[in-house]
Amino acid sequence: MVTKQNRILCPICKKTKNKPKDMYCNKHSLAQKSLKKGYEDWLKAYGIMSWDEYIKNILDFGDLLGILVREVVEYELYFKLN
Ligand SMILES: [Zn+2]
Repeated sequence: MVTKQNRILCPICKKTKNKPKDMYCNKHSLAQKSLKKGYEDWLKAYGIMSWDEYIKNILDFGDLLGILVREVVEYELYFKLN
């Protein structure tokens, strides 16, 4: 169900997004960018890995993972499963 609220609030922390078309709020957008950057570095280093595999693997990094990045990863995994 998509309500007006869903479109303006970050789905992770429920804070207002900068722009409605953004996926997440500022903080989580930044976290997602660093996640994507990490994925590109990973691809350069190890070759082929799907985004899904990457975000599952990255959860094993535990404490090395920033809390915001972890929230984005967990949200994206949840989102894909539902
Ligand atoms: Zn957020």
